[in-house]
Amino acid sequence: MPIFHECQRCTACCRWPGQVRLSETEVTRLAEFKQMSEFDFIQQFTRLTGDRLGLALMDKPNGECIFLEGEACAVQSVKPQQCRDFPNLWNFPGFEKICHALPRDVSPEEYREKIKRATGRDVN
Ligand code: SF4
Ligand code: SF4
Repeated sequence: MPIFHECQRCTACCRWPGQVRLSETEVTRLAEFKQMSEFDFIQQFTRLTGDRLGLALMDKPNGECIFLEGEACAVQSVKPQQCRDFPNLWNFPGFEKICHALPRDVSPEEYREKIKRATGRDVN
């Protein structure tokens, strides 16, 4: 049986050190959502990735994501794919110690449906 991890919106993953990579499409979508030009959005909310090959969301001085407001994501409806995919489509050893997503045994059909709803992706 596949296991689907149900996010509990604890926002722990928005506070971890690391980087949220952005595709060009995501920059466009986020800038539209913020009603800004892409240039202004990039200046205000992004930084270069560690490998300097792309853009990532900026962090606040305390290490939180720039879009974490209190206990919620300020761009929830257009949040980057990397955020949507965690923890079901990518994670790391021991992530369960920090992430509060609840593991559920689901049928293969339910798994596909839940992944589609959470991430927008089709999986086999
Ligand atoms: S964009 Fe939203 S979901 Fe993604 S890390 Fe930032 S606050 Fe969290
Ligand atoms: S994915 Fe995990 S760490 Fe992130 S908000 Fe959901 S439950 Fe919390």
